[in-house]
Amino acid sequence: HQLDELEEQQQHQQQQKAKKKKEKLSALCKTPPSIVRTRNGRDYRRGLFLGEGGFARCFQMKDSSGKIYAAKTVAKASIKNEKTKTKLLSEIKIHKSLKHSNIVNFIDCFEDDVNVYILLEICPNQSLMELLKTRKRVSEPEVRYFMVQIVGAIKYLHSRRVIHRDLKLGNIFFDPEMNLKIGDFGLASVLPSTDSRKYTICGTPNYIAPEVLGGKQTGHSFEVDIWAIGIMMYALLCGKPPFQAKDVQVIYERIKKTDYNFPIDKPISNEAKHLIKKLLTLNPLERPTINEILEFDWFKGPFPDKTNIISLTNTPENLS
Ligand code: ADP
Repeated sequence: HQLDELEEQQQHQQQQKAKKKKEKLSALCKTPPSIVRTRNGRDYRRGLFLGEGGFARCFQMKDSSGKIYAAKTVAKASIKNEKTKTKLLSEIKIHKSLKHSNIVNFIDCFEDDVNVYILLEICPNQSLMELLKTRKRVSEPEVRYFMVQIVGAIKYLHSRRVIHRDLKLGNIFFDPEMNLKIGDFGLASVLPSTDSRKYTICGTPNYIAPEVLGGKQTGHSFEVDIWAIGIMMYALLCGKPPFQAKDVQVIYERIKKTDYNFPIDKPISNEAKHLIKKLLTLNPLERPTINEILEFDWFKGPFPDKTNIISLTNTPENLS
């Protein structure tokens, strides 16, 4: 009983902290003016509010020809310290250098007195996180189809020595044609060489790899993205991430022991379980590389031709 109370208290504290962070962000972020004029004279008309993350708010923006984009706006007041400024510049530099059919396209970047704007291809059908919330769990053929697109994008990233480091369902969006697009390069990093390592601890609790929690001695590399692919595949098929717990410390303890099970009440194929087990291997060097994932037997199973808009709310009839 005492333990329950402690857990509740901790949860309350975490919620308060998150609320304060959001309030601070909202206070700093003024809604952009209805027309934003760039330095080279292009006008963009602000539209609907799309959403906000820990760092930025996103609005629709229309150019003079009527084409709609998403503008990630970051208040200049929130990037006063050098570290935050460097991080934003790094996100822009990395994202700008990428072009792939399954990565949110970077269009432009500009500023006014109040905000920095990152203009992106619009993804109006939300992310895999909302899809899973509505659907509760997703059929194997659909997950297979999603995974091929995700793996394709990460293959491209890793071949350019970019580690995303924040892959999660909420950062994988649907474009107007229901293709998946990986976004949010806020934690991405380019390795100077294939065998160099990163030492900063970062990521989202449920998706963080054990070697990141292991501390700064050993460092981490491309394998953290492979781990996150395993977490996403498990979550889509089973309905929730494998190490889910109320308390973040409990999540971390479970990750460090790879303490997870497959639900017994849900029919998950042995081929899917085999792949997930490989992706969620404790030793990063024993995980498959991004070039090996599509070779697994699970990918020999049936595929839909495309994702239909219906998938956002229902299992398509032929896949149930
Ligand atoms: P942060 O870096 O602060 O986490 P995100 O990149 O996650 O910001 O964006 C915050 C929110 O804005 C997302 O959760 C989503 O709702 C919305 N968003 C981001 N990019 C797009 C996009 N390309 N199209 C539509 N909405 C987007």
